[in-house]
Amino acid sequence: MRTSYKTILTLAGSDGSGGAGIQADIKTFAALECYGLSVITALTAQNTMGVHAIYPVSEACVATQFRAIASDIAIDAVKIGMLGSAEMITVVASLLKELKGKPPIILDTVLGSSGGAPLLPPDALPILKAKLFPLSSLITPNLPETALLTDMKLPLSTPESIEAAAMKLQQAGAASVLIKGGHGEEEHCSDCLLHNNRFFWFSSKKILTNNTHGTGCTLSSAIAAFMARGETTENAVGKAKAYLNNALQAGADYHFGSGSGPLHH
Ligand code: PLP
Repeated sequence: MRTSYKTILTLAGSDGSGGAGIQADIKTFAALECYGLSVITALTAQNTMGVHAIYPVSEACVATQFRAIASDIAIDAVKIGMLGSAEMITVVASLLKELKGKPPIILDTVLGSSGGAPLLPPDALPILKAKLFPLSSLITPNLPETALLTDMKLPLSTPESIEAAAMKLQQAGAASVLIKGGHGEEEHCSDCLLHNNRFFWFSSKKILTNNTHGTGCTLSSAIAAFMARGETTENAVGKAKAYLNNALQAGADYHFGSGSGPLHH
């Protein structure tokens, strides 16, 4: 029996339908043999068809949740998902500075749901960049998020334009940047990691499935898990991508609800 597990704290929104958010994060941590801790930043009412409503949690409640955990349990990695507002970003940034040790912080730049519901207002983008990019070991925007965060125009379809965007995001303060290519038109999903002044490209054939709810949450959580387990950033990204592809493949025949279903963890 294992008596010690690496711990990962996710600060994110709850998705009661189990596809994305906190629920996807904790399933991923468990599947990768890590112990999941969570601070809930917002409750969402949603299902496989879309987001019905968002109920933000107060900043004071988030701070109390965070301090209860951090004062008691050592944290090996942090994953940040949906924050919902500029005020929440500010509180989370100041809480992260209270953490003992320097666990890797993976920031999934969640700006909207895959169905198109906004999960962060546009006026919070400068605050996200100013307050959370400098604290993050790695940020993981997809192509639409990259365009919004860099003021570059989609489709960002050439490796040169994606590498230029990664440089721009690094100059904005993030230590390392992973731009996820899954929203592109190509048959392959090519992700670009800028780390230690080097570009690493990860390419895999796209898995054709309607069950993609929580893809971004799963990838960033898997990266956090592999980094907590001591992998280098580039190995963690490669292994997390393999985990994600398996989860997409294994969940392709799921029938939960009528919309975009979950992955298999
Ligand atoms: N976090 C929450 C709470 C969500 O509801 C969603 C999408 O619905 C996301 C994050 C982002 O999901 P995805 O991993 O599909 O980008």
